[in-house]
Amino acid sequence: MTATTLLPLRTRAFDFPTTFLFSLIALGAMIGLPTFAYFYDYSWVDWTMFVVMYIASGLGITVGYHRLVTHRSFTCPNWVKAALLIGGGWALENSALKWARDHIRHHSRCDQEEDPYNAKRGFWFSHCAWLFWKDPHRNGPFPARLVKDPVVMWQHRYYVPIIVSGLLLPFIVGFLSNGWVGGIGCFLLAGVGRVFFVLNSTFCINSICHLWGSQPHGHADSSRDSWFISLVTFGEGYHNYHHMYPSDYRNGLRWYNFDPSKWLIYGLSIFGLASSLYRSSPKTE
Ligand SMILES: [Zn+2]
Ligand SMILES: [Zn+2]
Repeated sequence: MTATTLLPLRTRAFDFPTTFLFSLIALGAMIGLPTFAYFYDYSWVDWTMFVVMYIASGLGITVGYHRLVTHRSFTCPNWVKAALLIGGGWALENSALKWARDHIRHHSRCDQEEDPYNAKRGFWFSHCAWLFWKDPHRNGPFPARLVKDPVVMWQHRYYVPIIVSGLLLPFIVGFLSNGWVGGIGCFLLAGVGRVFFVLNSTFCINSICHLWGSQPHGHADSSRDSWFISLVTFGEGYHNYHHMYPSDYRNGLRWYNFDPSKWLIYGLSIFGLASSLYRSSPKTE
């Protein structure tokens, strides 16, 4: 690996809107969530919505944003893609179009100045602090194949209403089950808290999986495999394999690797809802 020069962060402009939004989510999750639990507690409806929406938004990111849109590791009908991108949109990680543009650069310029969540800048930068500065390398046109994708462009256009629906849905379900208190509780747990946990699950890939773990598949960059992180990231912890073979629809190569994202893609293919599942043939298999 060649050493690269990183420009000091003081050369970057601070991103106030993103920092404010992220702080609001973090404070809501760390203060609002336990405060509500102290006074009212959460119902089984709140917890069910939390689990359902955590899975929908988590898999929306890993299967929809990551493996489908960014890496094209399989194809699927437009309505399946739209459903995955609605789930991914609920995670508050930008539209799939912008997310994919950043992530393509993460792979092509990994560990270098242009890497948006460069782990060479340390744990906190790669985990979440990269959001606090405007990225000077996030310029130029979007990849043409993404701009030509009607579903990706539709999700980009309606990203804000999708975000709002992901926060409104738990409120409505909670309200219908237990009035205003139910609505606020379900909004806090399955809306704000769920966004916070899904965000951190994604962040762990960029931080932990570039700092700690094994490199059984290659040493071309800092990516690491971590079976432990796979447990909370729907299988994306096998990140060294993913960096070496990014087009593979699996991140966990072996059948027993915990990778719910590959199981969902494979499951969809059994029902004819996914096809052209791409497999690399690594020497280590
Ligand atoms: Zn990576
Ligand atoms: Zn990737």
